[in-house]
Amino acid sequence: HFILEENMLEVDCPCVTPEVVLKASGHVDKFTDLMVKDEKTGTCYRADHLLKDYCTEKLEKDLTISAEKAAEFKDVLAVMEDYSPEELGAKIKEYGITAPDTKNPLSDPYPFNLMFQTSIGPSGLIPGYMRPETAQGIFVNFKDLYYYNGRKLPFAAAQIGQAFRNEISPRQGLLRVREFTLAEIEHFVDPENKSHPKFSDVSKLEFLMFPREEQMSGQSAKKLCLGEAVAKGTVNNETLGYFIGRVYLFLTRLGIDKERLRFRQHLANEMAHYAADCWDAEIESSYGWIECVGIADRSAYDLRAHSEKSGVALVAEEKYAEPKEVEKLVINPVKKELGLAFKGTQKNVVESLEAMNEKEAMEMKATLESKGEVEFYVCTLGKNVSIKKNMVSISKEKKKEHQRVFTPSVIEPSFGIGRIIYCLYEHCFSTRPSKAGDEQLNVFRFPPLVAPIKCTVFPLVQNQQFEEATKVISKELTSVGISHKIDITGTSIGKRYARTDELGVPFAITVDSDTSVTIRERDSKDQVRVSLKEAASVVSSVAEGKMTWQDVWASFPHHSSAAADEQE
Ligand code: AMP
Repeated sequence: HFILEENMLEVDCPCVTPEVVLKASGHVDKFTDLMVKDEKTGTCYRADHLLKDYCTEKLEKDLTISAEKAAEFKDVLAVMEDYSPEELGAKIKEYGITAPDTKNPLSDPYPFNLMFQTSIGPSGLIPGYMRPETAQGIFVNFKDLYYYNGRKLPFAAAQIGQAFRNEISPRQGLLRVREFTLAEIEHFVDPENKSHPKFSDVSKLEFLMFPREEQMSGQSAKKLCLGEAVAKGTVNNETLGYFIGRVYLFLTRLGIDKERLRFRQHLANEMAHYAADCWDAEIESSYGWIECVGIADRSAYDLRAHSEKSGVALVAEEKYAEPKEVEKLVINPVKKELGLAFKGTQKNVVESLEAMNEKEAMEMKATLESKGEVEFYVCTLGKNVSIKKNMVSISKEKKKEHQRVFTPSVIEPSFGIGRIIYCLYEHCFSTRPSKAGDEQLNVFRFPPLVAPIKCTVFPLVQNQQFEEATKVISKELTSVGISHKIDITGTSIGKRYARTDELGVPFAITVDSDTSVTIRERDSKDQVRVSLKEAASVVSSVAEGKMTWQDVWASFPHHSSAAADEQE
């Protein structure tokens, strides 16, 4: 759905990552959650979870709270992602929140880094971490990936693999675990042109979207047309919109119920400061709305961060058809004068001067011209130094440029595979009464595309002829790559159908003669009769989506579920 459709590159990077990579990306300093400790037992909790649970419970269960208090709790829920440790601690104290298990008092909140630390190599001196996401492996390989793509933008690289996070309180079954499968796409694009050539393929889609404004004004998600949401600027750009549309098609094709799927935009306070826009595909399950896919425009942040730390330019070029005349800022530090003035720290001063942006440089030039001297902050020295007029020349020069060099922006869909699969189980699970009506039978309504077992084969009664025919069909199914299960137990046919329904098997072939067989479809329980020879190829076509069940029904002699019940 993604890799072939966009001709993506694929990579497989190691889980153990050197510290320097995650230092550059910001994870070593900032990949933290706020934690509080039970003062007596030492048990740890996520501070925001405790506050969230408290406010939600008050809103849902406490009928005595005033309208004013209810509004306050709602407000806290909306902005708490933005709280500093002190603000979060103050709220926990104000509401008298205690440790949920013991009711003991709690410590002040403090940041806890979610990465598992390790050391690389026998000396134990090289610090490393288990990767908290797969994306960084793609960013540090950008130069090679860009080269493999013929130095052309846009292009995407994808990776699937394990990610590790030392979650403070894993909970909700499979939804918050410490080791999970992540699938990430990094789509690199020119920041000045975020249009997408295939946007029209998805622009007419309509589905539940939950923009920032609707969340802030207490409304609920509503059906929006994707093309309009992009045209109005609700979604920041076409490429981000394209991936939102593709994720919608992906999830619904898997069997996620479209009424229980919404795309929620991040609130300004939830979003990383560098992100241009971010939407989460949230799926409703018995645990509430769960973030399963994050789709973010991360601008040029990641490539810039790795460029700065490694000194390797992670950039793309656009060649001009005709050379362009441009005005360029030229900063020339006069090393002789700077050397005399700053000696050993000359290098730091030179680097800081060269790193000035246009506004800073032009302000310095004006001050040097009027006063002959300027105070200048050198961040690597952590202090101001005095720069004199003879130490630097700043000018603007006209130059001919043949190409534009820029850091690409990246649009990143990031899929939590375990969460999607868990939600799929819930959405596909259903029950229906048994024929006698005395019990409820479980059915997993997995679409054939994702059902782990596509077909069961069983002889109607135990006899050698039917068992031989079953073996022939099984062999053919194997040769066309269809996963299947044979059931030759003598149990009643009804029981055997019930068993396969419970496993979510979409088709069952029943051998009731040595020339022809029936194929039963799980959800309708309808059956068609096909020749023994055709059975495997019909199941393979319908299981792989080359034919629909309606096509099969129309092409072969058939009987409906009521008649099938008679047979059972
Ligand atoms: P994030 O980088 O935090 O946006 O996470 C990307 C995706 O990974 C999320 O959309 C989730 O689907 C999934 N995810 C994050 N943390 C966990 C976890 N602890 N357990 C399982 N899946 C997770």
